[in-house]
Amino acid sequence: MRRVIDSHVHMDGLGEDDAVIRRAREAGVDAVVAVGGSVESSAYALRLSEKYVGYVVPGVGVHPSEALNVDSVEAVRFVRMNADGASLVGEVGLDYSYPFARSEDVRERMRALCSGLVEVAAETGLPVSIHSRSAYRDTLDILRRHDVQGAVFHWYDGPLDTLRLILDQGYYVSATPAAEYSRGHRAVLEEAPMERILVETDSPVHLRRLGRRSEPADVWLTVHALAGIKGMEPGEVAGIATRNTETLFRLAP
Ligand SMILES: [Zn+2]
Repeated sequence: MRRVIDSHVHMDGLGEDDAVIRRAREAGVDAVVAVGGSVESSAYALRLSEKYVGYVVPGVGVHPSEALNVDSVEAVRFVRMNADGASLVGEVGLDYSYPFARSEDVRERMRALCSGLVEVAAETGLPVSIHSRSAYRDTLDILRRHDVQGAVFHWYDGPLDTLRLILDQGYYVSATPAAEYSRGHRAVLEEAPMERILVETDSPVHLRRLGRRSEPADVWLTVHALAGIKGMEPGEVAGIATRNTETLFRLAP
């Protein structure tokens, strides 16, 4: 039985794979989901999953921040060609909060990219790891339109009415170490039932409190913060989040 899974990591942003994975294993992290945010980082996640079989769970995707840097037809083609070796499509989504994403023109390009990638998930039956900021309803609309069966809105800290729609759709949200201090994120984690929450680090995001970048071993910070919010034991929270991750990403228990 796995103790905990970090459900959202950018392994390519960390480097030092062997050391990072050794520290994660030593900390009792029994798998990591390595998302792909570009063609290069998706290829990186796939390569790592061949080296750490059963430990690194690979995602292929293109992050919305790349919307102006990629040819969306090429990006979708790459993800479709590599979906076979992947356990999920992601990280994909929409983010209207970027300074470059103020115009409707750019937003439309973002939606086209996201929609194309989500379509691959729908065709292949793969679950999706979603990045969404200031674009929650539009993101949910794309998932619904393609009738995507499994999705997680990673680090969700959006409005609670949209959270209810996400949960109604059978989708998940994930908690990050920001569960310690972010008011919006904490409100979401109070509202969502534990049965729909995954835990993650989004490594290598900077950890304010520790003054360094995060890595998968730090997923216990998320577990402890979430346990505080839920008034539950950390071990119980880790266990439920782990089962949820196994269910969504269809990992053998
Ligand atoms: Zn991410």
